[in-house]
Amino acid sequence: MSSMDIERLKMSGAGRAMAVLTSGGDAQGMNAAVRAVTRMGIYVGAKVYLIHEGYQGLVDGGDNIKLAHWHSVTNIIQLGGTVIGSARCKAFPTREGRLAAAYNLVKKGITNLCVCGGDGSLTGANIFRSEWTGLLDELVKKGRITDEVAKQHSHLNIVGLVGSIDNDFCGTDMTIGADSALHRIMEIIDAIMTTAQSHQRTFVLEVMGRHCGYLALVSALASGADWVFIPECPPPEGWEDNMCARLEGSRNKGSRLNIIIVAEGAIDSNGKPISSTYIKDLVVKRLGLDTRVTVLGHVQRGGTPSAFDRILSSKLGMEAVIALMEASPDTPACVIGLSGNHVVRLPLMECVELTKMVQMAMNEKRFDEAVQLRGGSFQNNWNIYKLLSIQKPAQTQSNFSVAILNVGAPAGGMNAAVRSAVRVAVAHGHKVYAVHDGFLGLANGDIFEMKWHDVAGWTGQGGSLLGTKRTLPNKNIEKIVENLGKFSISALLVVGGFEGYEGLLQLYEARGQYEELCIPMCIIPATISNNVPGTDFSLGADTAVNAAMAGCDKIKQSASGTKRRVFVVETMGGYCGYLATSTGIAVGADAAYIYEEPFNIHDLKTNVEHLAEKMKKDIQRGLVLRNEKCHENYTTDFIHRLYSAEGKGVFDCRVNVLGHLQQGGAPSPFDRNFGTKLGVKAIQWISEKLTESFRQAGRVFSNSPDTACVLGINRKVVSFIPVTELKAVTDFEHRMPIVQWWFNLRPMLKMLAKYQTSFCEYIPGEIEHVTRRSISIDAGY
Ligand code: ADP
Ligand code: ADP
Repeated sequence: MSSMDIERLKMSGAGRAMAVLTSGGDAQGMNAAVRAVTRMGIYVGAKVYLIHEGYQGLVDGGDNIKLAHWHSVTNIIQLGGTVIGSARCKAFPTREGRLAAAYNLVKKGITNLCVCGGDGSLTGANIFRSEWTGLLDELVKKGRITDEVAKQHSHLNIVGLVGSIDNDFCGTDMTIGADSALHRIMEIIDAIMTTAQSHQRTFVLEVMGRHCGYLALVSALASGADWVFIPECPPPEGWEDNMCARLEGSRNKGSRLNIIIVAEGAIDSNGKPISSTYIKDLVVKRLGLDTRVTVLGHVQRGGTPSAFDRILSSKLGMEAVIALMEASPDTPACVIGLSGNHVVRLPLMECVELTKMVQMAMNEKRFDEAVQLRGGSFQNNWNIYKLLSIQKPAQTQSNFSVAILNVGAPAGGMNAAVRSAVRVAVAHGHKVYAVHDGFLGLANGDIFEMKWHDVAGWTGQGGSLLGTKRTLPNKNIEKIVENLGKFSISALLVVGGFEGYEGLLQLYEARGQYEELCIPMCIIPATISNNVPGTDFSLGADTAVNAAMAGCDKIKQSASGTKRRVFVVETMGGYCGYLATSTGIAVGADAAYIYEEPFNIHDLKTNVEHLAEKMKKDIQRGLVLRNEKCHENYTTDFIHRLYSAEGKGVFDCRVNVLGHLQQGGAPSPFDRNFGTKLGVKAIQWISEKLTESFRQAGRVFSNSPDTACVLGINRKVVSFIPVTELKAVTDFEHRMPIVQWWFNLRPMLKMLAKYQTSFCEYIPGEIEHVTRRSISIDAGY
């Protein structure tokens, strides 16, 4: 956002009142949304109210509607659930209820409302908005408000944020809470797999999602489950035989366990529910396998929000305030959604209608239409799941051999990419070679054939199972060429980081000298630093941000009960500030120093003064992130000393270097699926290039630039960009792309962390610090 935009926003925000509430089922990330709405609201000069207990609080009014201060939303970003409470409210769907709600808003002068909830809550919000004039007329008639007050509040602006773990809302790629729910599900599946393995058990896992199969489908993809039941795609008649044959087949091939995932709304093709106990009884009766059912239930809503949900909610929350400030009487209610990594405004009612149409299609057994309405990404997930879950014999052998290697440091999702690439290549009839230890292994002939079952269970594994090295190919090019010839390798797939990209470029540039290098080559970017040109995201970045965030959460917590303390935390990333910036937003850091945004001693001074100021009030902790190579002289140690000296008497300072824990152990659900999808895409591309080359030349001979590419995702579009083209947009010295999209997240980090606004009127008694409520534990969980 430019400074002009901010000034304009501040002008429209000054003196206006807005409120935020959370409604319906809670979802992780709602707190981050409440924090962002509150702080952005205050930032633009509005008066912000927090409405407790959802619509119930709005209907009841009184103490439920509280003026918020900047500090009211301190230290809540890492909490699950919603600290302002949520409720199912019987009164709000009635006119009486909404009349009371309207009165309560007008009484506080609030005409801007942000509702964070599912489709039910958003439908309610839209009805409320469309009835607003009528409600005020009625209040005037009843003598509860004057004509003049009604005129002053004649329009209610509504903006919705979709908070739902189910990811069941049309229009947005992701709803708030869905990614965190996947984290919980994967943690449980990973845990169950170890016990299933020990006892050779079959597990039937039931996951939430009401009538939407998203969570079940994506977790099946991320765990390589044997079978998945989702409401949108009921299994064809006779599925019992098919499923049992599949389970038996996998056991015969040596598998010690089976995982079956069932969405809670799973149905058969006649619309009859398929329950987890039915499946269990079937497996026991037909196959005699030791089988257990686990119903995941409310744990899926629980726990800390994932980094993605915290960042998503922060982005959406800030945009919600801008949308409210920009709304005019004729702007229809909108919902803020995500498309790729972009925030979008969508007409609320159209999205709700579309969402309802999915349900209608399912009720009327138009299942193909239901899948289509869920969107391209849903269909893609389903197709890829089907493609990878069972080995189908290749129709013909292709005579092509594909070699796969990892290059650079390990990154979450690398193994998932290798697994899917191996399987798809086998399905295409190619011979697949795994190369150990990157380009060095290719030079040393550390090359082995891989089959479908060799990669079983790889999706959830961290590190690099192939073995990875940073060594570039140029020193060993002769030996590499020799091995390419010896093994008749007709295509190369690299899964790796910046060295992988640089290495591919070297191989491409040596094509003139060696014909063996005239083969299709592709790199799937995989590095925790997210610094490979040609893609918005690299594999492993999501896992790393989650790991760094979890580390910072613990570091922050360690200070509770001690004296005032500022932590300086050093992150990895080389010169690239993506990891520090994303982690900074996810943990609500006070600052994140990165190389790309030069800073000097004045900036350090301003930040230290800001922290000292903060600490003099009721804040106990500060967190400052520093990317490892952000400044040659202002080292982590320097910043530590500076903060220690300047904070003397107010706070003390401690340093933590996060180090290799940022590589993250088990990959995040997103990286498992991202890797799986990229592996499929890469092999499809390689196969096309091989066929094309063979058709044209009668042999494999690829020497055009478009046959040595980076496989990237850019604004949601999968693209293969020639490495030569990317040369011009690469800063080789600092090992990163010259332009980085995430840079526009920087202002957000600062605006959400620092209190620097015009509205800071403190009304004693009205402002409450939101504290974590005791979580009521649902029956069973
Ligand atoms: P979600 O928002 O997660 O879909 P619900 O459907 O339970 O959850 O909705 C939450 C609350 O929103 C309800 O308890 C009710 O107060 C309100 N609500 C839902 N649907 C409507 C509606 N059609 N009209 C008015 N209020 C509604
Ligand atoms: P697709 O099949 O279109 O690649 P996905 O269902 O995997 O889509 O994800 C939907 C969108 O949400 C993608 O555009 C992706 O960029 C984004 N997304 C979802 N989860 C994450 C995450 N944890 N980190 C980054 N982006 C995410």
